[in-house]
Amino acid sequence: MNRHPGNEKPRVRGGAGIERKGSREYLNRVGALYGGSRASAYLPTDWRQRLPNPASYYAQHVAKLGNANPKGWAQGLCPFHEDHSPSLGVHVAEGGAYKCMACGAKGRDLVAFHMARTGYGFKQAVRDLLGLEVRA
Ligand SMILES: [Zn+2]
Repeated sequence: MNRHPGNEKPRVRGGAGIERKGSREYLNRVGALYGGSRASAYLPTDWRQRLPNPASYYAQHVAKLGNANPKGWAQGLCPFHEDHSPSLGVHVAEGGAYKCMACGAKGRDLVAFHMARTGYGFKQAVRDLLGLEVRA
C-alpha cells in the first residue's frame, strides 16, 4: 500500500476544475470588453463624416425652421414640448447643437437630438442617421 488515493484524486480534479473555470472567466471578460451582444451595434469608423448635414436634417425634423442667423443658429418649433412660437434654436452651420428656450431641451449635436427624438441609444441613433439597419 504505497499509493495515496486520498491525495491523488482531489489534486487531479481540483487542478482541472480551476483551469477550466479560469479560461471560461477569461473568455467572458474578453467578450464583455469587445461588446458582447452589443457588437451588433457596430459603427463604421468614419461615421462622424457620414452624418447628414445638420441644415437638411433639421429642415426635415423641425417645423417652421427659419433661416440661420450669421452665427449659424436657426429657430424652429420645438418637438420636445407643445411649441406655438419657435423656441428651439438649432445650430445648422456645424455639428447640429440645439437648445430650446422654453422647455430647456438641449444637446451638443445632431446625434443627441436624434436620440432625444427617437429614444434610441447612441449607437442606434448614429446607425439610423447613417441609413444603416438599427438593431434592438
Ligand atoms: Zn422645447
